[in-house]
Amino acid sequence: AAKRRTAGAQVYDPAVDTASALNLSLLSELRRAVDNHELRLYLQPKIAIQTGSVCGAEALVRWQHPTRGLVPPMQFIPFAEQTGFIRQLTLWMFEQAAAQQVALAVLGVRRVSVNLSTRDLLDLELPEKLDAILRRHRALADGFCLEITESAIMDDPQRAESTLNRLAERGYKLSIDDFGTGYSSLAYLKKLPVNELKIDKSFVMAMEKDAGDAKIVRSTIDLAHNLGLTVVAEGVENAAVLALLHELQCDEGQGYHMSKPLPIDDFCDWVARWQA
Ligand code: C2E
Ligand code: CA
Ligand code: CA
Ligand code: CA
Repeated sequence: AAKRRTAGAQVYDPAVDTASALNLSLLSELRRAVDNHELRLYLQPKIAIQTGSVCGAEALVRWQHPTRGLVPPMQFIPFAEQTGFIRQLTLWMFEQAAAQQVALAVLGVRRVSVNLSTRDLLDLELPEKLDAILRRHRALADGFCLEITESAIMDDPQRAESTLNRLAERGYKLSIDDFGTGYSSLAYLKKLPVNELKIDKSFVMAMEKDAGDAKIVRSTIDLAHNLGLTVVAEGVENAAVLALLHELQCDEGQGYHMSKPLPIDDFCDWVARWQA
């Protein structure tokens, strides 16, 4: 039974019991989800703000569960990270994206961003595992951007540095995701082979109304440019934010104002319409 310590006493908490039972069954189901083809690759467009053209897409996982419906990543990514299952999921996402590389390039989508977790960065064999997938699909490392959070890097900075150097040597672009929400050590920006900063959506979403957020976005754009990095704003939800980002010389934008993440076929239709 689930027990929670409250003021020195063991108190039975049915909510915890239900939650852990749910987690356990989620985990065993997640292990089967890959074999049962329940995981889905969704793509969300990234646009070049100064020209308006589509320059890339972020790969985001969805779980089409037979009874629970479409399960959002926040409901299973944390468990996947705890158990190490995330490493299998990352490789699955990367492989799905690699298989689409040629078709996407034809549409002008030259780069797909794939999220890496802490566990991936700690895997010393990750670069070789990605190499094998590239070879299978005759895909190119340069067609990928790998997104890493600040906290994933800070978990074991030396190991992360070595993995990131080996990925950069192979031609992958590297991006710092959720920039501004993690550890505020900027030293790694100088040290690591990073190409892109992605400003967290919490600063972008309401920047047209919140002067403080707008200042953070402006400073981050300047910081990125001073370091020679591409800067991306995520969470662009309306035209006013997009106009502000344009004025601030932000390079790329991603958000519901352009499109939410879509299944591959819908994504291709969306790109064709957007470019028309
Ligand atoms: P993230 O990497 O920061 O991804 C961006 C999230 O912001 C996505 O949520 C996306 O749908 C959402 N988003 C995009 N534009 C907007 C907007 O304009 N407004 C708002 N409110 N949200 C927007 P999603 O797909 O639910 O994913 C949530 C998180 O789950 C991701 O955050 C990432 O941390 C994790 N995740 C998703 N797919 C994967 C994956 O394949 N691998 C790993 N390791 N993590 C993943
Ligand atoms: Ca991301
Ligand atoms: Ca993000
Ligand atoms: Ca995030």
